[in-house]
Amino acid sequence: MRYELMLPHQIRRAIDENWPCVLPLGVLEYHGEHLGVGMDTLVVVRALELLEEEMDLVILPAFPYGAGSYVVEPPERNGTVHVDSSELLPFARGLFRSLLRIGFRNIHFFIHHQSENFEAGMPTDLAFKLGARQAIFGFLEEERGEGWWGDDSMADYYAAHAQGENPFNWIRGHPFMDEEIVGQYPFDHAGQGETSLLMALCPEAVDRQRVSLGKWYCRSAKDASVELGEKGRDLVLDHMRRILAGQ
Ligand SMILES: [Zn+2]
Repeated sequence: MRYELMLPHQIRRAIDENWPCVLPLGVLEYHGEHLGVGMDTLVVVRALELLEEEMDLVILPAFPYGAGSYVVEPPERNGTVHVDSSELLPFARGLFRSLLRIGFRNIHFFIHHQSENFEAGMPTDLAFKLGARQAIFGFLEEERGEGWWGDDSMADYYAAHAQGENPFNWIRGHPFMDEEIVGQYPFDHAGQGETSLLMALCPEAVDRQRVSLGKWYCRSAKDASVELGEKGRDLVLDHMRRILAGQ
């Protein structure tokens, strides 16, 4: 369900049944002349909407104002929005803290932008990862008081981890495409891979007539196809399904 449409009794049910509560995280970035600037966020939103047809899910309103960076093109008349990671951090911390207070304990975010470096991290996902950690530390301390970890009642802390009760798993971030998918599907910026994926998931944000062959990163977009995009979409849905179903 879309969070903003939920009634309080539905939110309470989602909390009681531990539904995944998912933030589509992204940027608004120049993706050549032929793709909508919301590409990286749109694919996450559309994939979640498809998954929601088959599983119980809370989909938070997307956050597309990440650190797009100007490495591809400067912003003037091109459209890239860049908010520095130091400005994203307090927002992320506040958002996650609030979601914990509401009662969610199965919170996730998915990001596509610059996610080929997800393990080491890039500015947007690092800000949200750190914000998540800080939110959990703050929440635990507020709820349990300082010294909560050292208290005798916590003697089973590591044993509880084995049963999946690690509070630091309350909020988890994931790349939209993991390494396994990148091994089977072209990972690029506005090239064949992204153009195909958007053709499959959000065709209204694609104009193939405008592929700029003068830009190296766009050139392969001329070979994009809906069929390839559907292959990518299915790989991504499998990957997200596994994570959100806790498998
Ligand atoms: Zn992209």
